[in-house]
Amino acid sequence: MIDVHMHIGKLYVGEKPLTPRHLLRFMDANEIEKAILLPIESPEEAHYYVTTEYVMRVARKYPDRFVAGCNVDPRVGTGDNSRILRARLTDYRDRGCKAYGEAMSGLAIDDPALQRVYRICGELRMPVIYHIDGFRNVDEKGFPRFERTLRMFPETVFVGHAQHFWAEISGDVTDDQFSSYPKGPITPGGAMPRLMETFPNLYADLSAGSAYNALTRDLPFGYAFLERFQDRLFFGTDVCRYVQPIDVIPFLKEARDNKRISKLAFEKITRLNALRVFGL
Ligand SMILES: [Zn+2]
Repeated sequence: MIDVHMHIGKLYVGEKPLTPRHLLRFMDANEIEKAILLPIESPEEAHYYVTTEYVMRVARKYPDRFVAGCNVDPRVGTGDNSRILRARLTDYRDRGCKAYGEAMSGLAIDDPALQRVYRICGELRMPVIYHIDGFRNVDEKGFPRFERTLRMFPETVFVGHAQHFWAEISGDVTDDQFSSYPKGPITPGGAMPRLMETFPNLYADLSAGSAYNALTRDLPFGYAFLERFQDRLFFGTDVCRYVQPIDVIPFLKEARDNKRISKLAFEKITRLNALRVFGL
């Protein structure tokens, strides 16, 4: 399997840094051949920064196992910072980075600074891995800003993730669920499946508790969602601490083994889509 969403380094106050050795042991134990490591460069992301340069060093040391993502806070510099963003992102791509992320700044999802990032990532063919909740990449219920963004940047691949993204799987989402894990049966008419249907440049990763919660709160809906969007979903873990349940691994394997999803859908979601879309 290929994990498109993993972290490394010191992220949280009071916790030990995640080392390459620890991550490799975790990957070996879970049949993960490769992982994209996502740097932390915006203040709202975690408690410390993990720079793109550090992540690239790790990827160079273990080229068969780790792929570097790159990150630049969209607010870098002053005024119209397009020149700075373009220079840094082009340099990172030329040095082997395969994704922009984790996009996790405390801005509106359609902030002008973020729009510059989206345009440049589209030109450079680097997918944007997104964290969308009540504090980061903020939007209103029903994703009006996100929808305009998807329409405005058809060349840019957006990979959604996190609580607000997955809460919009259900038509009855409420404003107080943007940073939580809503339970119960899914009501038709959710904004997220509608946007997935409408915009071929929208993808999603299955990392962290938010995807697992959304796919298991209403199992028949969850399995059907995996099957329906099998070309646009990526396996991911969002490993960011030493003690963390990664429920999506047994969930996907169980779904395959008990024929809840096809073998081909499993292969695409856990490996083939990542190879194709991230150019690994
Ligand atoms: Zn993450």
